[in-house]
Amino acid sequence: MNSSLPEFDPQVFEIANEDLARQQSSLTLIPSENYASKAVMQAQATVLANKYAEGYPYQRYYNGCLPCDKIETLAIERAKDLFGAEHVNVQPHAGTQANMAIYQALLKPGDTILSMKLDHGGHLSHGLPQNFSGSYYNIVHYGVSPDTELVDLDYVAELAKEHRPKMIIVGASAYPRVLDFSEWRKISDSVDAYLLADIAHISGLIAGKVHPDPIPYSHVVSTTTHKTLRGPRGAIIMCKSEYAKDIDRAIFPGLQGGPFMHAIAARAVAFKEALQSEFREYQSQVVRNAKTLADQLMGNGFRLVSGGTDNHLMLIDLTSISDKLSGRQAANYLEEAGIIVNKNTIPFDKRSANSTSGIRLGTPMITSRGMKEPEMVMIADFISETIKQRQRVGSRKRVREKVQELCRAFPVYEDN
Ligand SMILES: *Cc1c(COP(=O)(O)O)cnc(C)c1O
Repeated sequence: MNSSLPEFDPQVFEIANEDLARQQSSLTLIPSENYASKAVMQAQATVLANKYAEGYPYQRYYNGCLPCDKIETLAIERAKDLFGAEHVNVQPHAGTQANMAIYQALLKPGDTILSMKLDHGGHLSHGLPQNFSGSYYNIVHYGVSPDTELVDLDYVAELAKEHRPKMIIVGASAYPRVLDFSEWRKISDSVDAYLLADIAHISGLIAGKVHPDPIPYSHVVSTTTHKTLRGPRGAIIMCKSEYAKDIDRAIFPGLQGGPFMHAIAARAVAFKEALQSEFREYQSQVVRNAKTLADQLMGNGFRLVSGGTDNHLMLIDLTSISDKLSGRQAANYLEEAGIIVNKNTIPFDKRSANSTSGIRLGTPMITSRGMKEPEMVMIADFISETIKQRQRVGSRKRVREKVQELCRAFPVYEDN
């Protein structure tokens, strides 16, 4: 009971430390990841993990829940402050579960959902055939236009008129541009559909006031807490008061049992962090860094989907370098050079989701390390060198040394 992790289980302790070393010594440009603060991780490691608290604050199915009631209430109040939502449910274990609960609350199996095509940047919980969403609901997809690679709202409106969806989902995992939620609400109103804004990727930007706000225009909003929001893994649902009961019932007892109270405590800490003025500064640096990285990559001859970025992420179209180079290969070369990215389809991709013609890059993590514009220029050049000199012996090792030097200058967790 009382021995510490390194004493009792050095095997697990060492593997976790191995990942700490990996996180420190590589540049991660995966736009859906971030480094949670020490305070967030400490909250998550508390004894709140031991408690069953089925139900909601002050209405539990277990005794001994008073501290949990206080923690959950705090998390809810802080989330409301941060986003200005009427109602918040802080219990979803992850973003996919949050979306599942929203569908269960507002739709019936077989109802039509209009959402973004997955290979144009949508998420698996928006209708992948192998996901519950694709098997329980009738999914109709919009995509980006071939000319601009932006979502064409006139086309979305046409599809809405034709298919009369019960719900329209706005939000994506790989869309580098701003979403104007007020325009989306006009479309959903025109067919009397619910508007769900899934802001999993951009909720940090929204909380930091560097992206338009979905709250006034959406019936429901879902977000993860571990992406740009920089909290622990998990999700929340925000909605207008009139849907509160249905949403809460869909999470518990609909889809989940006991909430992860330690994770909810960590979410409360993350919301407090996001309410500080430093967080706004961080988010605007994330966006400035993405612009600089994008400009330097384009200057180096890479084509970016839609010609750049307005947010924290961008997609490189590798066919602008070579038709023979897949996203999978490029991501593997970059990993050898110490740069972690993920392969991603680009709109109208000729390759499969497993191979892809693109890689997706984002700036949340390197910005959390304190890097600014000069480092973005260096990183863009590291990426160019790795990809363009992929056939040269020793090129990745040379980049790797420069990457490690940069990582040492910007440590993730100061005292490690
Ligand atoms: C990340 C993401 C989710 C949720 O992902 P989980 O891995 O289930 O937490 C949902 N929607 C979008 C658009 C996302 O990018």
